[in-house]
Amino acid sequence: MTIITISLPSTNPSIFFPSYPKPFKFNPKCSSQLTPTPSSLPKTGVIIIGAGLAGLAAATHLNSQNIPFVLLESSNAVGGRVRTDIVDGFLLDRGFQIFITAYPEAQKLLNYQSLNLQKFYSGAKIFYNGQFHTVADPLRHFFDSAKSLTNPIGSVFDKLLIGTTRIGVLTKSDEQILTAEEIPTIDLLKKLGFSDSIIGRFFRPFFGGIFFDPELETTSRLFDFIFKCLALGENTLPAKGISAIPEQLAARLPSDSILLNTKAVSVDFDDSNPPRVRLQNGDVLSGELGVIVAVEEPALVKLLPGKKNPVFKKPVRSTVCLYFTANPDEIPVRDPVLFLNGSGQGIVNNMFFVTNVAPSYAPPNKALISVSLIGLFEDVSEDELVLKVIQELSGWFGDKMVKEWKHLRTYRIEYAQPNQCPPTNLKKNPTIEQGLYLCGDYLTSATFDGALVSGRRAAESLLNDRAFFG
Ligand SMILES: Cc1cc2nc3c(=O)[nH]c(=O)nc-3n(C[C@H](O)[C@H](O)[C@H](O)COP(=O)(O)OP(=O)(O)OC[C@H]3O[C@@H](n4cnc5c(N)ncnc54)[C@H](O)[C@@H]3O)c2cc1C
Repeated sequence: MTIITISLPSTNPSIFFPSYPKPFKFNPKCSSQLTPTPSSLPKTGVIIIGAGLAGLAAATHLNSQNIPFVLLESSNAVGGRVRTDIVDGFLLDRGFQIFITAYPEAQKLLNYQSLNLQKFYSGAKIFYNGQFHTVADPLRHFFDSAKSLTNPIGSVFDKLLIGTTRIGVLTKSDEQILTAEEIPTIDLLKKLGFSDSIIGRFFRPFFGGIFFDPELETTSRLFDFIFKCLALGENTLPAKGISAIPEQLAARLPSDSILLNTKAVSVDFDDSNPPRVRLQNGDVLSGELGVIVAVEEPALVKLLPGKKNPVFKKPVRSTVCLYFTANPDEIPVRDPVLFLNGSGQGIVNNMFFVTNVAPSYAPPNKALISVSLIGLFEDVSEDELVLKVIQELSGWFGDKMVKEWKHLRTYRIEYAQPNQCPPTNLKKNPTIEQGLYLCGDYLTSATFDGALVSGRRAAESLLNDRAFFG
C-alpha cells in the first residue's frame, strides 16, 4: 500500500493540528496521476471526493480562503450529473436541464455574462385534446397570458390563483420556505384550491418534469422554492451547454487541484489520524485538514459503509432523454418554448426544440430536438422507445414532419435526483465526525442551487471545526 500524506507545503500543519504533526511527505511510487513532479504537486490539505456542483462549490470556498485541497473525480470530466456531450457537432446535455437565473447561491458563485445564457419563453405550450394551448407568465407576456385565460388548461380562477400563489411565495424568505411545514406538492395544490384540470394538464407535466415525479408527491418546500425562483428569474441554457456551469467553477480553481479518472473506494477514519482515502489503484491519500465526500447518494453508501445509515427508503427519480435532429424546415415552430404533455396519455412528458432556445447547440442549418420521459423504461428497448416517441409526437406535430427526424442519442438516467417526498430535511448537517464532511443535493434541495449550497456548507463546517474563522 502506498500512503501519500497530503499537507501544506508552505505552512506548518502542526499549527492547525497539534495532534497530527506529520511532516510533509510525498511518495513518488504512487499512480502516474498522483506522481506529479514537485512543482505540480497538489498543494492541499483537504481531500474532496466528487467534482459535481457540490464538490466544485466546496473547492471554490476552500480556494477563496486559501485552503489547499485536491478534488478527486472518478469520471473523465467535472460536472457530475451536469454534463454535455459533443456528438457530431451537437451539444447534448445529459438529460433535459434548465438553469434558473434566480437561484440564489448560483448568483453568488457564477458569472452569468460569460455563460451567455439563452432564454426560454416564460410559459409553456400544452398539448391537450389534440391542440396546443399556451400558459404564459403575465408579468413577462401579458397579452399571451390574457389570451390564455379562457383556454381549457384550468379555469380563470386557476389562472388568478397562480398569481396569488406567486405573491405568497415571494413574501417568504428561502429559509422560511425550506424549513416550512411540508406536505406533498399535490396536496398543497389541492389545498390552495387549484382544479383537477390545471393540476393534470399543467402542474403534473411541468413540476412532474422538474421533480421527475408525475404523482407530485415531492415536498411542498421544493415546489415553493422552485416556484419562487421561476417567478424571480428566467429559464435558460448556457450557449455552450449545461456543462459550462461546472466548467466555469472548475476553471477558477488551481489547475493542478483536480484529479480526473481518480476513483476513491473507501474513506477510513479514526480519532488519532487524519482521514485516509483509498483509491481504486490501491494508493491511499491522507488529508491533514479533512475529507469532504461530495459524491451522489448511491455512491456514498459504497464509500462510507456503516458511517451513513441506509438512505434508500424511497425510490430514486429517473428520466430518459432522447435527442433528434432535423432540417430547420422540418420543425413546426421557431419559439423557444417548452412543450408539455397535458393529455394524460402517452410516454412523452415534455419536449422542446433546443436550437430555438440556443442555436449554438447544433451545427449550422440543423435543428436539435430534446424529448423527456419520466422513469427509466428499463423494459423497453431503445429502438422501441424511439419508435413510440416518434409515433406520439407525430400525433402532436403531424406525421409528415416528425418522420423526417433522425434519432441522435438516448440518455437513460437512473439516478437523476434523490426522492424528496415528505418527510424531508433540506438542511441536513454536513458533519459526520470532525474531519469528515458530506455534501450533495440529497442534503439540501435536489437542484443545482441545493448542490452549490451543500458544498459551501461542508467547507464552512470544516473550516469552523478547524478554527480557521476568527
Ligand atoms: C437529467 C437531469 C436533469 C436535471 N435538471 C435539473 C434542472 O433543470 N435544474 C436543477 O436545478 N437541477 C436539475 N437536476 C439536478 C441537479 O443536476 C443535481 O441536483 C446536481 O447536479 C447534483 O450535484 P451533486 O454535486 O450533488 O452530485 P453529482 O452531480 O452526482 O456529483 C457527484 C460526483 O461524484 C463523482 N463520484 C462518485 N463516486 C466517486 C468516487 N468513488 N470517487 C470519485 N468521484 C466520485 C461522480 O462522478 C460525480 O461527478 C437535474 C439532474 C438530472 C440528472
